[in-house]
Amino acid sequence: MVESLWNAEEAAGLTGVDLLVYRSNRLGADRRVCNWGGGNTSAKSVEADFRGRLREVLWVKGSGSDLATVTRRSFTPLFLDDVRPLLAREAMSDEEMVAYLAHCVTGPGYPRQSIETLLHAFLPFPHVDHTHPDAIIGVACAAGGEAIAREIFGDEFVWAPYLRPGFLLSKVIAEAVQANPKARLVVMEKHGLITWGETAEESYANTLAAINAAEQYVAGRAAGRPPFGGEAVPPLPPAARRALLARVLPAVRGAAGGSRGTILQVDESAEVLAFVGSRDGARLSQVGAACPDHLVHTKRVPLWVDWTPAGDDAAGLAAAVLAGVERYAAEYRAYTAAHRSPDDPAGDPFPRVILVPGVGMITTGKDKAAAGLAAQLYHRALAVMAGAEALRRFVSLTPAESYAVESWPLELYKLSLAPAERELARRVALVTGGAGGIGRAVADRLARDGAHVVVADLDEPGAREVAAELCKKHGPGRGLAVGLDVTDEAAVERAFAEAVTAYGGLDVLVACAGISSSAPVEETSLAEWNRNLSVLATGYFLVSRAAFRILRAQGQGGAVVFVASKNAVVGGKNAAAYSTAKAAEVHLARCLAEEGGAAGIRVNTVNPDAVLQGSKIWDSAWREQRAATYGIRPDQLEEHYRQRTVLKVEVLPEDVAEAVAFLAGPRSAKTTGCILSVDGGVTPAYSR
Ligand SMILES: [Zn+2]
Repeated sequence: MVESLWNAEEAAGLTGVDLLVYRSNRLGADRRVCNWGGGNTSAKSVEADFRGRLREVLWVKGSGSDLATVTRRSFTPLFLDDVRPLLAREAMSDEEMVAYLAHCVTGPGYPRQSIETLLHAFLPFPHVDHTHPDAIIGVACAAGGEAIAREIFGDEFVWAPYLRPGFLLSKVIAEAVQANPKARLVVMEKHGLITWGETAEESYANTLAAINAAEQYVAGRAAGRPPFGGEAVPPLPPAARRALLARVLPAVRGAAGGSRGTILQVDESAEVLAFVGSRDGARLSQVGAACPDHLVHTKRVPLWVDWTPAGDDAAGLAAAVLAGVERYAAEYRAYTAAHRSPDDPAGDPFPRVILVPGVGMITTGKDKAAAGLAAQLYHRALAVMAGAEALRRFVSLTPAESYAVESWPLELYKLSLAPAERELARRVALVTGGAGGIGRAVADRLARDGAHVVVADLDEPGAREVAAELCKKHGPGRGLAVGLDVTDEAAVERAFAEAVTAYGGLDVLVACAGISSSAPVEETSLAEWNRNLSVLATGYFLVSRAAFRILRAQGQGGAVVFVASKNAVVGGKNAAAYSTAKAAEVHLARCLAEEGGAAGIRVNTVNPDAVLQGSKIWDSAWREQRAATYGIRPDQLEEHYRQRTVLKVEVLPEDVAEAVAFLAGPRSAKTTGCILSVDGGVTPAYSR
């Protein structure tokens, strides 16, 4: 049952477009009623035009927005007396329709009207809802759906045979509704539902009533029978699933992302596990898409991985996924070749949804949000398939119908509204010491360039704060915090496994975690010496090793950037332990550059000097120790360092982040084994 979310008190003070927004948000709030980005709503009113003449206006949702979050600005007003005459036409191309409707908008500054605008305009009712509810699509995608709908709705509905949205579908529906005065709703084959009302509340109530009638009918038919033919394979225990995924996901990501890369999301929900372990899952998953709106985010079919679940078979699973992706891409190319016109852009051939028996679902996307959306829509598809199979047999859009949607310029227009991708889009970066001054600036800079950033730090609350800030500034899922002591081998493995589980893999490692201590050599304890070496040298080794394993499994190259120090190349008085460990970092980078080259893994170093701002190191005893070494007061250090540089400047965390961003991304594609100084110019540190 979908429950009414209408609150009479909240709605009481609203009129016009505000009430339309309210109704739309209520519809979008329940994804069983309306999937993300799908569906549209409208209201008709009489308003004065720019000359003061009273005219009928259709307020309809704009293209590309989501009902759950629409605002006044998401709707477009059109003069109905300009739109209605179109009903008399016999045919109209999409291009003609879009160009014509652009003239009907009442003024400038509105979004492009929904591609389903004519559905709303041609129906004579004051309020119209078009949604994609699971229960209704279950009927609309069942073999013999029209007869089933008749059992549910009697003669009070109109059945609209599948047509791609556009002029003709709108005309057919308007004429069918006109011919049936009893009609209260339209069931659109392999698509969705249209309802209406004299008031906004009535329209909303009619939408819910239609859905609940269908849902009740489906539930009656499904009673006593398990969905999808019942369980064939039980899910692996959660710990075994996670361990398998941590080992297999990088290879999956490498194969399914092509050269552009992709972000993965894992779904182990009960619905998904039931489906991937079911008797009918393999067959049903390959029938096709249930609704044009699903298809755009999930593709026509998912990849069903041919693998018998076994908790210790990571190699077998990886091989099965790679073979599956290869087969999928070949089939996708054949499918597009069979249907495409010469001018169609070649779509990427990789799956968006990957189903693994016993393990769950992996979805892909250009970012975390897109991967999440594919998962969300496949959940809708599961609900639709369960319903359709309970009624009779699930039928989908045909390959030709699917291709016509995938390559449809108006649908591609919706996707084109997204901003252009940034340099590190589709990339995952892990920054150690990510809660510190330089680490924080690096994390923010990489996220600004489009990367998803794992903020790893010994200071876990600090890492959480940075990650939360990244999500707030750059989008949901763009930052992830992990607590990490880089000297703890097991902790390093866990942190990288977390990154892999969250995003599917890794492309960039920035090793930034640091400490420092200053003392004359006679006063340097062995413990202090060991501590410097273990954090700065061993810590850099451990995270690099973990990163290399993932990068190699992905097979798409990668970038490792060490944040070292001027002290790595210049003898530092009273800082032997720190400087020696920093020198080890730089040499480790050179060795790793040699090892990674053949796999396209670049390893470079940034050598900053005296970055005091925001630094935890400089808040510690180190500041006083360094000041004592130079014979000045601690608060004179900034000026001391500035005067020491050739350029007479203070080096800031953002300056170091800029250099890291360059070495992490494609602009430095041909640079490895290099040291980039960001020190304001320190003569003894000039490379030679
Ligand atoms: Zn639709």
